[in-house]
Amino acid sequence: MGYCLQEIEGKQANDPLFKEKMNDDTKLSCRGRCVWVPGPVIVGAGPSGLATAACLKQKGVPTLILERSDCIASLWQHKTYDRLRLHLPKQFCELPLMGFPSDFPTYPTKQQFIQYLESYAERFDIRPRFNETVRQAQFDATLGFWRVKSVDEAEKTTKYLCRWVIVATGENAEEAVPEIEGMGEFGGDIRHTSSYKSGKEFRGKRVLVVGCGNSGMEVCLDLCNHNAAPSLVVRDRVHILPREILGKSTFGLSMWLLKWVPTRVVDALLLIGSWVMLGDTSRLGLNRPAVGPLRLKNLSGKTPVLDVGTLSKIQSGHIQVRPGVKRLKRHAVEFVNGKAENFDAIILATGYKSNVPSWLKEDDMFSEKDGFPKRPFPNGWRGENGLYAVGFTKRGLLGASMDAKRISEDIEGCWRQSISVHWPPSHHFRHYPIHDSQ
Ligand SMILES: Cc1cc2nc3c(=O)[nH]c(=O)nc-3n(C[C@H](O)[C@H](O)[C@H](O)COP(=O)(O)OP(=O)(O)OC[C@H]3O[C@@H](n4cnc5c(N)ncnc54)[C@H](O)[C@@H]3O)c2cc1C
Repeated sequence: MGYCLQEIEGKQANDPLFKEKMNDDTKLSCRGRCVWVPGPVIVGAGPSGLATAACLKQKGVPTLILERSDCIASLWQHKTYDRLRLHLPKQFCELPLMGFPSDFPTYPTKQQFIQYLESYAERFDIRPRFNETVRQAQFDATLGFWRVKSVDEAEKTTKYLCRWVIVATGENAEEAVPEIEGMGEFGGDIRHTSSYKSGKEFRGKRVLVVGCGNSGMEVCLDLCNHNAAPSLVVRDRVHILPREILGKSTFGLSMWLLKWVPTRVVDALLLIGSWVMLGDTSRLGLNRPAVGPLRLKNLSGKTPVLDVGTLSKIQSGHIQVRPGVKRLKRHAVEFVNGKAENFDAIILATGYKSNVPSWLKEDDMFSEKDGFPKRPFPNGWRGENGLYAVGFTKRGLLGASMDAKRISEDIEGCWRQSISVHWPPSHHFRHYPIHDSQ
C-alpha cells in the first residue's frame, strides 16, 4: 500500500517536474529530506487510519501513513489493560471491506481485535511508516499543497509535500491527567489507565480509581478479581446500562429502536430496562443525569457505561464509592466531603484528549480548545484545501468507518481528475514561486 520512502524518492527522481523543482534552489529549498507524496498523507495508523487507507486503496488511490509509534493500533497494543474486550458487539466495530472472522465471539478480546487489525493491514497491504511523529502540517496557499513535517526517533526531520492530509490521530491521542493538589506529595503509585495492565500487581493493596467511565469501572472490577481493595471516585452523574437487555446487546437494541421511535422514547425504554435489571443505581451513590443516555451522548458526547459486572461488586461492598478528591497527602486522600482515607495507589481513569492543535496549523476545521472538528457529526469529516478528519465523531469504530468511506469517495473524484488532467501538474509549479516555509 502507498509508497515507502525509497519508492517515493525513486518516482520523484524520475519525475521531470520534481527534477526541475528540486534542482532549482530559488524555487524550493528543502533542508533535510523533502518527499513528494502523490496521494493523501494519513497521520495515524489506528483503526481509523487503516480503514481510510483500505477504502482509498480499493479505489486505486495510494496513501502514505505516518505513525509515531512502532506498530499499528498503538492505543490497543500499548495503552490498554489485559482484560479489555470490545465494549460493543463485533458487528458494530468492524472496519469497511472486511468483517471479523465468524469464529470470534460477540465481544472480541483485545488480542483478537489486534489480530483482526493486523490481518486487515496485511489484506490491503498497508505499510505505515512507523516511529514518525508528525510535528507540523500546514497548507501552503501559494503552492496549493500541504507541507507535512515529521521527526523520527533520532529527531531527524522529513518533509512531505502532498495534496491531501487525513487526520487520523484519534480522540485518545494523549492522556488527560487532572491537576490534583498534593499530587507530588503522594508516596504511592499514581498512574493513568494507559499504563495499567492488570490487577495482579495490586494484590492486597488499597487502590483509588479516579473516574467512573467504562475504563474506571472495568479497572475496579479487575482489581477486585485480583484481590485488591478498590474504591471508585464518582464525581459526576453517570448513566450505567446493562451491556445486554433480554439477551440482546443494549447498543444493538438502541440502534434498532431508533429506526422506529424518537430518541427520548428509546431513552425511556433503556432506563426502564436498566431499572429492572440493575435496580436504582443512586442507592449505590451513582446518580443518573437528568437527560437520558442517548440524548446525553448526542448533546455532549458522554458515553453511558455498559456494566460488565462492576455494579454487583459495588452492591456487595467489594468496591467502595467515594466522592470527588480534594487533595492528596503522603499516604492519604482527602475527599470533598472532608473525610480522608489511606491508599497505596491511585489509578487515573480520567480519559484522553486529541492532540491535533499541537501539530495541525489551521484554524477553520478543528477547534483549538478540544482538538475536535468544529462542525458536529456527521459533517466534521471534511475541511478546506484537501484536509480531512477520520475518527472524531465520538461514535467509536462505527463513526470512523463512516468517515473513512466518505473521505475515500471524496478523494477518489479529485484523484482521477488529477491523474488524467493535472498529472504531472508541471504548469502549476512553473507558474508559482515555491518557498520553503521553514
Ligand atoms: C479502552 C478503550 C476501549 C474502546 N472500546 C471500543 C469499542 O469496543 N468499540 C468502539 O467502537 N470503540 C471503542 N473505543 C473507542 C475507539 O474506537 C478506539 O479508541 C479506536 O482505537 C479509535 O481509533 P483511531 O484510529 O481513531 O484512534 P487511535 O486508535 O488512538 O489511533 C491513532 C493513532 O495515531 C497515532 N498518532 C497520534 N498522534 C500522532 C502524530 N502526531 N504523528 C503520528 N502519529 C500519531 C497514535 O500513535 C495512534 O496509533 C475504545 C477506546 C478505548 C480507549
